[in-house]
Amino acid sequence: MQPMRRESPYPMVLIEEAQRIIAAHVAPLGVEEVSSLTADGRVLAEHVYAGEDQPDVPKAAVDGYALRAVDGAAERRVLAEVTAGTTHTSALPPGAAVRIMTGAPLPPGADAVIMVEQTDERDGMLHVERAVSQGDSVHTVGQDIARGALVLARGTALGAAEIGLLATVGRVRVPVYRRPVVAVLATGDEVHEPDMPLGAGGIRDSNRYALMAAAREAGCETISLGIARDDQELQRAAILDGLERADLLLTSGGVSMGTRDLIKPLLAELGTVHFGRIAFKPGKPTTFATIRDRLVFGLPGYPVSSLVSFEVFVRPALRRLQGDARPERPRVQVTLLEPITAPSDRPECQRAVVSWQDGRLSAHSTGAQGSSRLLSLRGANALLLVPGDGRVYPAGAELDALLTGPLAP
Ligand code: AMP
Ligand code: MG
Repeated sequence: MQPMRRESPYPMVLIEEAQRIIAAHVAPLGVEEVSSLTADGRVLAEHVYAGEDQPDVPKAAVDGYALRAVDGAAERRVLAEVTAGTTHTSALPPGAAVRIMTGAPLPPGADAVIMVEQTDERDGMLHVERAVSQGDSVHTVGQDIARGALVLARGTALGAAEIGLLATVGRVRVPVYRRPVVAVLATGDEVHEPDMPLGAGGIRDSNRYALMAAAREAGCETISLGIARDDQELQRAAILDGLERADLLLTSGGVSMGTRDLIKPLLAELGTVHFGRIAFKPGKPTTFATIRDRLVFGLPGYPVSSLVSFEVFVRPALRRLQGDARPERPRVQVTLLEPITAPSDRPECQRAVVSWQDGRLSAHSTGAQGSSRLLSLRGANALLLVPGDGRVYPAGAELDALLTGPLAP
């Protein structure tokens, strides 16, 4: 058993410094080609340009009549009907109109469409309520997408609109960045599977499951490495197993100053520890290492510390591994709805629920901010960036916050 240290051998780094160090070690993983039609959640690995104009020909934007604007408000003879998917090829003579449906190509010679609601048709003659101007209700060539235009840039995360765009420009296969595989190891003699009986003083493993869910939310595949007892050989074997199978390894627990906190020395033995302490609450002992080309984060055991550290340090790395051009959460300014107290020693990420109220982003605290109180994360969609100045921030004060989810209703 190792002696109990009084002082950490690791210098304290600032949050931004830690983030910089991590970013410097992360490059996008490889690229694979997938069907674009179901590629939501993936990140595009090349620019996509439009091969054609959309629409390719002038089309009716409404149901009505295609006509020549120059004929003014006069009656027209209705010559034919053209529906979407068909074409009327002969030119429209003066004084004539063609019944036309939304999406149908304009006949040659027609330069406007009048909507059916503004017309009357009797005995093959069209009566219009008013004259139309050239171009009225015409969907012009390239109006929606111009040929050669950049439709989606490399690094774009694909969602519903992007899938629609890929389909509409006919790109059925696209290169995307490979999803990172994240392996998660829990440690601790007192830690048990949630469905197993707990002895006195035991604790259920919430971290591994919460971290795997967070990694999936960040676009990754996950591997569970189970729970390793506080034994150096067992933990070394589990870490080596994770490194074989994953791009990135997360461990939970065992990074503090206790005699059974074995992770930091193990990471130092197997690779390089880039930092082992951050001036940050909750999650001071968060550790970052590389072993060969693999990234390893030693996250703290306290459930809030592990998830908040994941959010602030690991998630941006996971998005960068996927080539996301915007790997960070949005940072906004919020108004406090109740007073909060800042710690006096280091900046803190306090959990809050942010919603739009009275014309501004307003933050409700989630209550007591203890590192073990997972309830402080329930419903939270923001991390308040509270300076380590020991001040009380009154209701109405403004603070920066990271938005970690959609605004609350
Ligand atoms: P440690 O960092 O290993 O000293 O753990 C700090 C605290 O977090 C202890 O109270 C542990 O019981 C608790 N803890 C450690 N691992 C987990 C886990 N996987 N799930 C929930 N709590 C944990
Ligand atoms: Mg432990």
